[in-house]
Amino acid sequence: MNFGIVYFSLGSNLGGRERNIASAIEEISTHIGRVNKISSMFESEPIGDKSHPWYLNCCISAFSGLTPNRIMQKCQEIEMKLGRVRGDAKWAPRTIDIDIIFYGDKVVSTPILTVPHPEAHKRLFVLMPMAELAPDFTHPKLRKSVWQLLNECPDTSIVSRPSHSEVNAKAGCHHQADAAL
Ligand code: AMP
Repeated sequence: MNFGIVYFSLGSNLGGRERNIASAIEEISTHIGRVNKISSMFESEPIGDKSHPWYLNCCISAFSGLTPNRIMQKCQEIEMKLGRVRGDAKWAPRTIDIDIIFYGDKVVSTPILTVPHPEAHKRLFVLMPMAELAPDFTHPKLRKSVWQLLNECPDTSIVSRPSHSEVNAKAGCHHQADAAL
């Protein structure tokens, strides 16, 4: 089996956001591959409808021998298991969103899957955590490093690194597991 490194972007803006992300990481390590690195948590303003709750985002890397399609299938199963309701509007609040950002230097373009993720280089909430994990990683289509893409990114939305207490207070969340990450 050929193993490659997969970079995922995880986001949640519904329920116990930190707990949702921690559960997604656990599920990815069980069903997709060994988790290698986990970025800090970032808080980002919602794209689209500004009245929606703010997101908690991070990126992780994992080693996997699965095909890109199989990984996407697994991601969707994990999203369902964690309470994601499919068929919701494009930017509707969600318990968990899992996107495949890069899979080594693979380039995939099918009606259901595009890798590298076509929006990744336009979003600070992806590039900021990615720059913690792999600043020198080269985007296989744009041939620029993550660091360069971050410096050139025109996104002006607010993305910050909150303290743990801020994360839990803003989520209105006092669950023990949410303070554990
Ligand atoms: P989302 O609303 O972000 O969960 O994405 C919805 C759809 O995007 C999924 O049903 C996938 O078919 C498609 N998609 C295309 N490329 C990707 C990718 N790189 N990672 C995750 N989803 C993708």
